[in-house]
Amino acid sequence: MQTLSITGSEDNPVTSTATRTRQPSAAVQAKADALVLNNAAWCRLRNRQTGKCVAYAVPSQSVPNLFYRTNGVRCECRGFERHGYCAHQLAAATYVAIKRPARKEVA
Ligand SMILES: [Zn+2]
Repeated sequence: MQTLSITGSEDNPVTSTATRTRQPSAAVQAKADALVLNNAAWCRLRNRQTGKCVAYAVPSQSVPNLFYRTNGVRCECRGFERHGYCAHQLAAATYVAIKRPARKEVA
């Protein structure tokens, strides 16, 4: 059996009984964690009318200067298309989960 390196927190419970088909691999999770740490490099995509951040452009880790748009649920990259998850989507989801409790109003 392979050992999963579990980087989850209370926000990110690991359900061992879940089906494995859509379970991200440890490698993808590690990439996602690295992307979250590097979130300063992301672009915030805002709704033009509300000004709310609706998605992120997360840099590709294999191709320089390439960004993938993701809202934490879906991503436009091929990995997501193929697996139903990807590092960008996971990173955005993690980032949103981390960010949500600290709702700071920045003028
Ligand atoms: Zn992606």
